[in-house]
Amino acid sequence: MSHRYKCILLFGSPGSGKGTQGKILGEIPGFFHLACGDVFRSLDLTSSLGKKFMTHSSKGELVPDELTVEMWQNNMKAQVSLSIFKPAQDLLVLDGIPRTVSQAKALKDHLDVLAVLHLVCPDEAEMVRRMRRRALKENRLDDADEKVIHHRFEVYRKETEPVLSYYPKDIIHNVPAIASPSMVLMSVLDLVAPIQDHHFRNPLTQ
Ligand code: ADP
Repeated sequence: MSHRYKCILLFGSPGSGKGTQGKILGEIPGFFHLACGDVFRSLDLTSSLGKKFMTHSSKGELVPDELTVEMWQNNMKAQVSLSIFKPAQDLLVLDGIPRTVSQAKALKDHLDVLAVLHLVCPDEAEMVRRMRRRALKENRLDDADEKVIHHRFEVYRKETEPVLSYYPKDIIHNVPAIASPSMVLMSVLDLVAPIQDHHFRNPLTQ
């Protein structure tokens, strides 16, 4: 089979809760959650790629597309060959990638996108509060500085939001993300449970 992983994309601005929802979904059998930011943060920060990640992320910038896509592909290959991710059974839940239209194009031959869950949180101040709390807890440089946070929102509007127009409208679902994590989870599950159910009844044969 040409490896087009069946996947659900978690989409939304920094602080909208993609990681929180993705981690919970990843605990449900049959979902495999991969957050691009987590993969970057797990790099050896003294390696060449790790250093590049730090340079860009500490300024609130995106890592260049080519490096990001290459790292993502390598990581996916490793997850599959170690049977951590089993594409025939598991639905991939991607969070934080694609973050530019050029990344979406590069991933086109690798992903069969079943749904894009757009976590919508119009209250930017609330997202900033969430990010500052996270910075303290997780020691994240990109969320510690208010100027960097605001730059991340600018980058999101300019480079990431256009990704929404890349996918067909009928697979994009807006999920209100201002509520508590469990309320947001209910909306997320309403959307993904039927998709998983369909996938379970029609597993891929390779
Ligand atoms: P958040 O959860 O706040 O949206 P992430 O943990 O996903 O943030 O990403 C942290 C940083 O990692 C980004 O600001 C960026 O520098 C880098 N990064 C993550 N994913 C990508 C991507 N797909 N393309 C380029 N850079 C990325």
